[in-house]
Amino acid sequence: MANPLYDAVFGQYHGAETVFLRLPDGQTISHGAFVAMAGRFANVISDIGLKPGDRLAVQVEKSPQALAVYAACVRAGVIFLPLNTGYRATELAYFVANSGARLLLCDDSKRGDLAAVAAQADARLETLNADGTGSFTDMAKDMSEAFETVDRSSDDLAAFLYTSGTTGRSKGAMLTQENLLSNTQTLTDFWRFSDQDVLLHALPIFHTHGLFVATNITLLAGGEMIFLPKFDLDEMIRLMPQASTMMGVPTFYTRLLSDDRFTRALTKHMRLFVSGSAPLLADTHTAFEERTGHRILERYGMTETNMNTSNPYEGDRRAGTVGVVLPGVEVRVTDASTGVALPQGEIGDVEVRGPNVFKGYWQMPEKTAEELRKDGFFITGDLGRFDEDGYLQIVGRNKDLIISGGYNIYPKEIELVLDEQPGVLESAVIGVPHPDFGETVVAVLVPVPKATPDLSQIEQAVRQALARFKNPQKMIIVPELPRNTMGKVQKNELRARYKDLFT
Ligand code: ATP
Ligand code: MG
Repeated sequence: MANPLYDAVFGQYHGAETVFLRLPDGQTISHGAFVAMAGRFANVISDIGLKPGDRLAVQVEKSPQALAVYAACVRAGVIFLPLNTGYRATELAYFVANSGARLLLCDDSKRGDLAAVAAQADARLETLNADGTGSFTDMAKDMSEAFETVDRSSDDLAAFLYTSGTTGRSKGAMLTQENLLSNTQTLTDFWRFSDQDVLLHALPIFHTHGLFVATNITLLAGGEMIFLPKFDLDEMIRLMPQASTMMGVPTFYTRLLSDDRFTRALTKHMRLFVSGSAPLLADTHTAFEERTGHRILERYGMTETNMNTSNPYEGDRRAGTVGVVLPGVEVRVTDASTGVALPQGEIGDVEVRGPNVFKGYWQMPEKTAEELRKDGFFITGDLGRFDEDGYLQIVGRNKDLIISGGYNIYPKEIELVLDEQPGVLESAVIGVPHPDFGETVVAVLVPVPKATPDLSQIEQAVRQALARFKNPQKMIIVPELPRNTMGKVQKNELRARYKDLFT
């Protein structure tokens, strides 16, 4: 018997002296030391009484130890459930109770707050701090690193990953070993990762991007990661010369570009920059190429499916698109009301099928049935269209679609026009309730630093570029857009803020 995910991603490294993690202070952790640590953790987990299929929830800061808890869970057949470090005790209560976690790991500083949460959910509480200390690692000290890897099949669950909660309450996506492993293999190939790669890792590890995409690929390929606790501009610039690849959310790229030290010379040796989790503005793509000579490779995925499409490694990386469908994955664009595939070029629901697609939402059978079709296609909630060369463009989320006076309005189309206007840094277009039209268009604008956009001139430009029914009824200037930790614009927050403008 075997444990496919463990065997492929971690199991090859027992005793290996090659470097896996490079920490900001220069300290390194070898592949062998990492899997040994995971072995000790797996012994703690099973000594505590967790059985294969049980859940282990973690709300801990990013650290090598935190990553080793993931490896330990895979090895012990325990379902790993990482949680956003920003959640408060009341929010955490939902996840811990909802998942039925048997063990919760948190920072020592949160122990007081979370004791009641754990007790209520009948979960054991132990601690793991950013520096790797804590009651959990204390228990691991005297443990053997030898652990009999628990047999699993491809179809067994490896993780529950909660969605980012951009459009509503976060949902626990049940991910199998095969979901994770198939996508890791595909992406390692597609992006040409090898044991020569050093990935600059500044993403959080409670989300699919930093946890599965970045970590699993690096492990499968045998490369190194420069493991930063979080995105820090000075640190990114200091460590970039040691890296060969970077994965980031769009805000990483805009922040790097905002600094004069980020130059062509600094990035000359880099092999690859990948962006995802939120739309990368075409302007950022262009500015990045002008500055560095590198074309960012944008890809598209989500918690429920891992990655679905990617711009090519060799060949045209097209700004404003999320690239072509990955090998082994199917993507179709359908009519929301009938579910029938639309002709190329038309905008519709993006649906995905493949070995990467999750098993359903934990304890949400109705939601699962709504979004996961019987034929295996998952309705992503995103709207998109394919261009004539098979590149997918994401035009926004289904829930952000504005229906005004019976017309469908795609916010992205208006945002693209607004973003081009002098003095406008970025924009978010939302629909708000309107007595006559049902909904109407409101544009929220962020000016470039120190600029004051001329609203009447912008109004005129929009009128010239777009049909009348798409013109914003109101434009509002704000210093910044509300974003979550993954850099996603929280449009539901904007809709709530401006819901009474016309009523
Ligand atoms: P929730 O499902 O809880 O509302 P969420 O969809 O933001 O939150 P994630 O699974 O973290 O949670 O994010 C996936 C979503 O992120 C995708 O459905 C898509 O809307 C967006 N996304 C990811 N990559 C890209 C990209 N390259 N371009 C545009 N959007 C992207
Ligand atoms: Mg989602």
